[in-house]
Amino acid sequence: MNPRITIFDTTLRDGEQSPGCSMTPAEKVRLARQIERLGADIIEAGFPIASAGEVDSVRAVAEEIRGVKIAALARAKEPDILAAGKALRGAAHPVLHMFLATSGIHLKWKLKLTPEEALKQAVEGIKLAKSLVSEVEFSAEDATRTDYGYLREVLQATFEAGATTLNVPDTVGYSLPHEYAELIGRLVRDVPGAVISVHCHNDLGVAVANSLAAVQAGARQVECTINGIGERAGNASLEEIVMALKVRGSTIGAETGVKSELLAPTSAMLSGVTGIWPQPNKAVVGRNAFAHEAGIHQHGILANPLTYEIMTPASVGVKETLLVLGKHSGKHAVESRLRALGVRLSPEEVEAVTARVKQLADAQKYVYDDDLLNLVGSSQARSIRLVRFQAFSGSQVLPTATVEVEVDGETRSASAVGNGPVDAALKAADAALGLDLELLELTTRAVTGGKDAMAEVLVRVRHDGAESSGQGASTDTIEAALKAYLSAVATARAAHEQPSLAEESA
Ligand SMILES: [Zn+2]
Repeated sequence: MNPRITIFDTTLRDGEQSPGCSMTPAEKVRLARQIERLGADIIEAGFPIASAGEVDSVRAVAEEIRGVKIAALARAKEPDILAAGKALRGAAHPVLHMFLATSGIHLKWKLKLTPEEALKQAVEGIKLAKSLVSEVEFSAEDATRTDYGYLREVLQATFEAGATTLNVPDTVGYSLPHEYAELIGRLVRDVPGAVISVHCHNDLGVAVANSLAAVQAGARQVECTINGIGERAGNASLEEIVMALKVRGSTIGAETGVKSELLAPTSAMLSGVTGIWPQPNKAVVGRNAFAHEAGIHQHGILANPLTYEIMTPASVGVKETLLVLGKHSGKHAVESRLRALGVRLSPEEVEAVTARVKQLADAQKYVYDDDLLNLVGSSQARSIRLVRFQAFSGSQVLPTATVEVEVDGETRSASAVGNGPVDAALKAADAALGLDLELLELTTRAVTGGKDAMAEVLVRVRHDGAESSGQGASTDTIEAALKAYLSAVATARAAHEQPSLAEESA
């Protein structure tokens, strides 16, 4: 069996230091609870000396989250260490994380200390920390640009002073995997008994590669963040490390205790708190991480997901693979999307619709559910259709919408107020349909340039325990949202009543 490495999550500390990612104590507690469920081993909750808010955050997380270790950061200074110790007082399993730079450039220009003075300060700091908290970690800031002999001396001395975990951060994201692995391998041999930890930044895009190389070389703790958020280009991304160890663990020789099916929901919760979504092509949790557009890929995926997927969307908590219909889509993808919408066609008809999908995609890039149903051309194929709507909003009025839909040939309408025009429109649609669906996700993006851009809306809903998604596009965002929503409802219904709808459209 492979050794299990410690996942040290620093989303709430290093991650929170990224621009636009600051969090309130309540938000930190909510995320910490999710990170605990996810199965991280240590949660670094903050840097207490930085502000009163940080003290409150660390204290709140320490008091609420009992199942994992809670860490707090401190510089090698008495007030920092005392503040961290105090904030951690209520923790079930506290870890005091103290750091001091060791590289020549940091000692000379930032700290204005000689190497001897820094060594002494580090040892004294660890002794003080150890008198407050039984588990202490030392980080040699800018370790990868530190003279090896001196780094080893400082780590050995802090280990002897009581630090049980020695962190070797690539603070400035300068190292390359082979160099970092060599450094970690040497330290594992030269400072026996200590847990060697790694902490990599992504300035050259190799933070995860460096972390994995270090694990292979004997590191037993990895510091990382959800969505890879962190200073500058970010930290090593937790979800990528976890999935690399899950998919390639036998090669790397290590495993984690993280429940990978909670990765996508955790990533989404963090994005909800910070308002920053990972880039669409981000590994594991990006919106397109499991999207296939090329027709040859779509055909393979539909026949057997293993053809183009090294891990399943479900294994990271993503419910379905998104097949985007575009000019590269083949007949299998078109047929599959139509089937999800409740439409069954003969092979010849599918062939004809696919040719028209390609033509349309040449003109407008993507083909949405509504376009697809228009291409099929039979109005009875469309079980739910938006007939018309109006939405009214402004700064001194209650946002109100009236929506008229056609359901199986019958027209229904309803009005509703909401906390915005989109909310009002979706509530009116619910009232007209006599349904109350849970909206899980709604994303809008501009698919063309300029102020008159075409808006694309993707929604995900839950109905009777089953989830479905829909897409819509229009120059009017509210119309695009309604189309996407109705399309998700139609998909949910089709999944529910597959046999009867199949008979109707056969
Ligand atoms: Zn960092």
